Amino acid sequence: MKCATCGGAGEVNCAKCTGSGLLPAKCDECKGTGKLLAPSGTGSVECDICDGRGIVESKCQECFGGGKLVCDACEGSGSTEGDSGPLIDDEPAPSKNTKK
Ligand SMILES: [Zn+2]
Ligand SMILES: [Zn+2]
Ligand SMILES: [Zn+2]
Repeated sequence: MKCATCGGAGEVNCAKCTGSGLLPAKCDECKGTGKLLAPSGTGSVECDICDGRGIVESKCQECFGGGKLVCDACEGSGSTEGDSGPLIDDEPAPSKNTKK
């Protein structure tokens, strides 16, 4: 039967980054201020690492930037076996194998 946790997809959105694969992190270059001291020494310029936002998007360590994690409930198969009843091995799989 189809796995209820992932809806048969075999993977779930990463909870840490909510599926985006990216996590906001404070910009190291400007220490989160978004500004850098101007090369001339007077005033400040926009940090070009974070575009002045003070935040950079770093790859999520949990999902390695993919945004998806293998479903725990079905171990990525997309279906669960259930507790009772015979196993159906040769269930025809529809062409849903989207390889990326
Ligand atoms: Zn910055
Ligand atoms: Zn993630
Ligand atoms: Zn699942």
